[in-house]
This record gives sequence, structure tokens and C-alpha cells, in this order.
Amino acid sequence: MLVVEDEPAISELVSLYLKRDGFGVHVESDGAAGLAAARRLKPVAIVLDVGLPGVSGIDVCRSLRAADDWTPVLFVTARDDEVDRLLGLELGADDYITKPFSPRELAVRVRTVLRRAARPTPSDVLEIGAVRLDAGQRRAWAAGEEVSLTSTEFDLLAHLMRSPRQVFSREQLLSSVWGYEALGTRTVDVHIAQLRAKLGPASPLRTVRGVGYSADAS
Ligand code: CA
Repeated sequence: MLVVEDEPAISELVSLYLKRDGFGVHVESDGAAGLAAARRLKPVAIVLDVGLPGVSGIDVCRSLRAADDWTPVLFVTARDDEVDRLLGLELGADDYITKPFSPRELAVRVRTVLRRAARPTPSDVLEIGAVRLDAGQRRAWAAGEEVSLTSTEFDLLAHLMRSPRQVFSREQLLSSVWGYEALGTRTVDVHIAQLRAKLGPASPLRTVRGVGYSADAS
């Protein structure tokens, strides 16, 4: 695990708990060193503070994604009002946690992010209208063009496409795709909005007012 955090008290506590959970932990305290370590060490996941001196956590994540590095990122932010912006940046943030947090909460989030990234997916091809997913290769196409999806976006879309026309509530999607319901339901809305923006007119995602979402060709 790579931890990029400029507050020693927090990075020490986070490291302690991650080590107790059996992870090898490497800590960096600024963005540039964090980015270099991510490239050099190829961590299984990154706990990334947003507010870092020099290169911000957002820029670190953006640089990784620009290089097609989709290592799971758990953002740590001190500001609750920053969360929508973070998830809306299409950075492929797999989750976020707001300060102050309990180490136990962090450990749960880290395990979930890793479980989701490592979850074996049945190798099947899902198709609705002009959207095609190869669940084995975890690749997606809209109207013949390949689309880059984060692991969360992919899992959400695959979950909906596996049961065409079935309407899922936001709570059901949180529980099935994220694995826990601690996140607010707006997380689902933000990810659906990102998927729609990426899939364009081919998007099979429907909003069912007052209920939730479905994937449907018509
Ligand atoms: Ca900070």
C-alpha cells in the first residue's frame, strides 16, 4: 500500500493500522514523491491525501490516469464539500474518506477497494443496444468506440446490464456494487452521471423517478 499524506500524525496512524491488517506500507509526504513512488513500487492501492504541498492529490491521480495507470485510489479529504468535485473529476477515484476518520473505518474502505479491484468477473460479454462490455477483459465499448471506465464505473454498469430492465434502488446498488452502504446515495448518482457522459447517446442507463436506475435498450 502506498500512503501519501503530509500530516505525520495521520500517516503514522494509517500505516500502523494497515500494517496490522497485513499490508506492507510505504509512506510519502508530498505529491511529487508520491507519484514517483506509485510508478516505482506499483502498489496494490493508494491512500491519497487531497491537500498535499506542491503537487495535489488530485494532480497525482490525474497523472497516473493519464498514463493509463488504474491503481485503486482511496482519496482522503478534510472537506466534505470537496467530495462531489472529487468524484466528478473522472479521476477514477475508487472511494474517498473524510477527515477525521477512525482507523477502523479506513481499514474497511481499503479492504473494500481491494476486494472490488480483485473480484473475479465471469468472462462473459454483455450487450445492450450499442453498448458492449467484456466482463472478462473488463473492457467497454459504446457505438464501436472503446470507453475507459474506472473499476467502480465498470462494476456498476455491468451490474445493471446483467439484469436488463430490472430497476435497482440506490441502496441496492450501493450494497451490491460498493459492498457497504456507508456512502451517501449521491455517490450512485455521481457515478451514473459519469457513465452517461462517457457512453454518450448509446447509454442504456435509465432513471426511474422515485425508485432508482435500470439498463434498458428502449
Ligand atoms: Ca494534507
